[in-house]
Amino acid sequence: MALERTFVMLKPDCVKRRLVGEVISRIEKKGYKITDIKMSELDEAFVREQYSHLIGRSFFPELLKYMTSGPVIGMVVEGESAVRIMRKLIGATRVADAEPGTIRGDFAFTDTENVVHGSDSPENAELEINRFFRYKVPSKV
Ligand code: UDP
Ligand code: MG
Repeated sequence: MALERTFVMLKPDCVKRRLVGEVISRIEKKGYKITDIKMSELDEAFVREQYSHLIGRSFFPELLKYMTSGPVIGMVVEGESAVRIMRKLIGATRVADAEPGTIRGDFAFTDTENVVHGSDSPENAELEINRFFRYKVPSKV
């Protein structure tokens, strides 16, 4: 076991469906500490960086549209094995594979709109934390 931090993002459907409190409550009840939090709107450049491994996949345009459809909430979540255990709390990517009791298993109903993101490694967590907390969407005026 190791003390870790991970990046968790409440996606636009989570905010729109007023599931923010529910998801944060599950994270806190598990014993994790939220050490930073920010609401922000993402733009195309951010989504292309965050999901660079998925550019070219057939669902990428849908993912881009979804992730830019409204505000998200990014958080730093800290605790024992936070990266791996947060991914367990979140559940599988695919809605059909996400077990009841996980956040996606209980609340997601499409493969794209799946409520919440969690980093998949400590290295990616640091990259994603830096990207999100430094990022400012360029002003349109
Ligand atoms: N995604 C999708 N269709 C798929 C796979 C992924 O729309 O077939 C979206 C979904 O929102 C997912 C995100 O792309 O959370 C990132 O995919 P990844 O494989 O990294 O899954 P995750 O780490 O979020 O479980
Ligand atoms: Mg991923």
